[in-house]
Amino acid sequence: MLFKCLLGDLFGLLFPDLCCGCGNYLYQAERQLCTVCLHQLPYTDHHLHAANKAARQLWGRLPCNAVLSLLYFKKGSRTQSIIHHLKYKGRKDLGVKLGNMIAQKLLMSAAYEGIDLIIPVPLHLSRERRRGYNQSLCIAEGIAAVLKVPVNTNSLIRKKITASQTKKSRYNRFENMQQVFSVADKQILNDKHILLVDDVITTGATLEACGMVLFENNISKLSIATVAFAE
Ligand SMILES: [Zn+2]
Repeated sequence: MLFKCLLGDLFGLLFPDLCCGCGNYLYQAERQLCTVCLHQLPYTDHHLHAANKAARQLWGRLPCNAVLSLLYFKKGSRTQSIIHHLKYKGRKDLGVKLGNMIAQKLLMSAAYEGIDLIIPVPLHLSRERRRGYNQSLCIAEGIAAVLKVPVNTNSLIRKKITASQTKKSRYNRFENMQQVFSVADKQILNDKHILLVDDVITTGATLEACGMVLFENNISKLSIATVAFAE
């Protein structure tokens, strides 16, 4: 046992795990994020405020039941580093961890009771093949493990690859997102409370497009959860 521990420490010295938030070395019991980051991350507390900034971003565009982002996103912040590891460094385990953290917040708000299905925002198949995974699915699986609610990935599908949204006007973004998503399995959505999951809310155009397609297919309620909210 001692030998195993020493071997583990030696391995850790040679190949240290780094925190996905701040880049510092992780202690043996820490995974993905260090204790300091876990305490100091810019949590939004959206679960305590129905009229939070993420919810207001979608007001008048999508009739959401509740919207929550776990963290604020600023350039150069720990949140940006976390999102980078999640999307481009293959850190599926980080996605699951963030999903667990989101679920703990969801459990504290009555608005998220009665969720029937968790649906991650889908990537286009070609992009998912290149990346090897859909980061939103990892987050969804982390939430599902805590809430004990199934994840569905074959109902909402992405038909088109979209270019970056950030430099477009609101109308152009809306136009760009038209007909990007569609529903393959309509039956399973009927009269369901859906939790739609994505990594970041920026303009809200992607969530708006997904949500509209879901409502067209007779869901009863739409809640949204993301890791980060870009102010
Ligand atoms: Zn850290």
